[in-house]
Amino acid sequence: MKPKTKLIHGGIFGDEATGAVSTPIYQVSTYKQDAVGELRKGYEYSRTGNPTRHALEELIRDLENGVAGFAFGSGMAAISSVMLMFGSGSHIIMTDDVYGGSFRVMTKVMDQLGITSTFVDTSNPENVRAAVQENTKAVFIETPTNPLLKVTDIGAVSAVAKEFGLLTIVDNTFTTPYWQTPLDHGADIVVHSATKYIGGHSDVVAGLVVVNSTELAERVHFVQNSVGGILGPQDSWLLIRGLKTLGIRMEEHEVNAKEIVAFLEKHDGVSTIHYPGLVSHPGHETAKKQSRGFGGMISFDVGSAEKADEVLKKVRYFTLAESLGAVESLISIPARMTHASIPAERRAELGITDGLVRISVGIEDIEDLLADLEQALD
Ligand SMILES: *Cc1c(COP(=O)(O)O)cnc(C)c1O
Repeated sequence: MKPKTKLIHGGIFGDEATGAVSTPIYQVSTYKQDAVGELRKGYEYSRTGNPTRHALEELIRDLENGVAGFAFGSGMAAISSVMLMFGSGSHIIMTDDVYGGSFRVMTKVMDQLGITSTFVDTSNPENVRAAVQENTKAVFIETPTNPLLKVTDIGAVSAVAKEFGLLTIVDNTFTTPYWQTPLDHGADIVVHSATKYIGGHSDVVAGLVVVNSTELAERVHFVQNSVGGILGPQDSWLLIRGLKTLGIRMEEHEVNAKEIVAFLEKHDGVSTIHYPGLVSHPGHETAKKQSRGFGGMISFDVGSAEKADEVLKKVRYFTLAESLGAVESLISIPARMTHASIPAERRAELGITDGLVRISVGIEDIEDLLADLEQALD
């Protein structure tokens, strides 16, 4: 199946029981048993399994070319559940400029449970090798990263991880399975904040996990069922609905993003532009090798917090908000919003300056977006 067909016909198409073309929302917590332990379709209790959630889990499994998929109540619930597979005394190596929430959960929550982490620049796989300890269990990479769009070579890091018997986990939120399938490059686990491009409409908070073996599937399902951070049926349905148009949305996000990058490059008020599609971007070649597209996220520096504030005040079609990946264009200041939970000193080290503006390019008409940015920047 080709990618856009798979988005619509992958997983479970419609409903076996009624012929409904859209997967029904099975708003149910428990299921009738014909005798003790005799289940009709394998469903017993909805924390363990629910048909609407199952349809979504089968779909994301197919899209990521994995063995099993799991849906959680948020991206952070998905990431935390994966981390909870590793017991106390485990060590995880992570990309240094990961999503702020991932940094926070590792340093403030997992740390207390005895799951420690080291943050390194994974765009150089040798940094991963140097950070391996005796108790290291996994490497967690985000590529491209938020908000600097730094690219990590999934194949190269997975190869280092395999040498040491470590699992490779990839946060694929920014690129989505439409453009990038990390399991095909040697990763073992893919995680998503489905709140972003997969949902695509700023109307649902959700997380997804896909694994590449039945052994990992059993481990993730055990945590999912034990800890219980599952996604409800209504939200599962919203993601299935969102996924149907992921292909056309990603194509359009990228067309618009490329035009905006070309405009920003010519603008005097903009210094650095971070976009993996730029030939001058340090991760461009790697991105080209492992992804089929460069996505719709751009960040650029306008020089100072004051200038950034001015831009925010003037834009009309770029909504000031956290989050990303939806049909509407969003704008944010990472240093004071998504990355505020990262200490200032560390932000400076990473290059997340006060004048850094991040935009999530929506699918509005490009003429309107360009005119809006032009009047805000001039
Ligand atoms: C938003 C985000 C998360 C967290 O997901 P939630 O759905 O907000 O819990 C994790 N990783 C990345 C890259 C994100 O952008």
